[in-house]
Amino acid sequence: MTGLIDTHCHLYEPDYDGFRDELIMQLPQNGVAKAICVGCNIETTLQSIELAEKYDFIFAQAGFHPCDTADINLEMWQQMQQLARHPKVVAVGEIGLDYHWDSSPRDTQKYWFAKQIDFANDIGLPVVIHSRDATADTLSTVREHTPKKGVFHCFSGSPETMKQVLDMGLSVSLGGVVTFKNAKNAVECARQIPLDRLLLETDCPYLAPEPFRGKLNRPDYTLYVAQKIAQLRDMQTQQIIDITAKNAERMFNI
Ligand SMILES: [Zn+2]
Ligand SMILES: [Zn+2]
Repeated sequence: MTGLIDTHCHLYEPDYDGFRDELIMQLPQNGVAKAICVGCNIETTLQSIELAEKYDFIFAQAGFHPCDTADINLEMWQQMQQLARHPKVVAVGEIGLDYHWDSSPRDTQKYWFAKQIDFANDIGLPVVIHSRDATADTLSTVREHTPKKGVFHCFSGSPETMKQVLDMGLSVSLGGVVTFKNAKNAVECARQIPLDRLLLETDCPYLAPEPFRGKLNRPDYTLYVAQKIAQLRDMQTQQIIDITAKNAERMFNI
């Protein structure tokens, strides 16, 4: 029996201070085989790598989140490129465009999104893409820079947008949103997605699935995402766990 793989979590967040190691050490017995901790800037990429060095079932991603692109300088970019070559870094992420918070100028976000896709292609890593209220620009940047491998994380776009993502050869990762009552798009995508393109995630500490919506999220809650998708597709939860774990292992070479 395969265990769950949470392909996107932020375990360094202060929400877990005081019980982080306890929580992580319990993950295997709670059904989590592997978890990938995502960087958003230099500091959180270093923290992700630190956790990945400490636990063999934790992996890391290195990248600048669109909200953290405003003050990147050459030295920071060189450091990030170095961090991405760490043996436990399995993707460049999370990168993308976020027009919801607009905390970095849009042109700056686009510049670093494109540059990080090119870099990922150069070093042979997949990209993990964050897109919020920026669908058209995200798709056009991806189309222009053609990541060789990658995933749209926490996908909540329309089935039409999903089709465009799949047509570009990329995968889609679904999280807690699929369990929310008003999550029409995510539910429809969960029904329609070809199973070999589906990954699971929590994006914890954010976006806890039902029945924990609004509470602190954690990697073992990936189970509730798997259960919901299994129910929508009239499958066994373990089948969804097995398939998505294989997909994650292939995508991230873990
Ligand atoms: Zn994100
Ligand atoms: Zn995230």
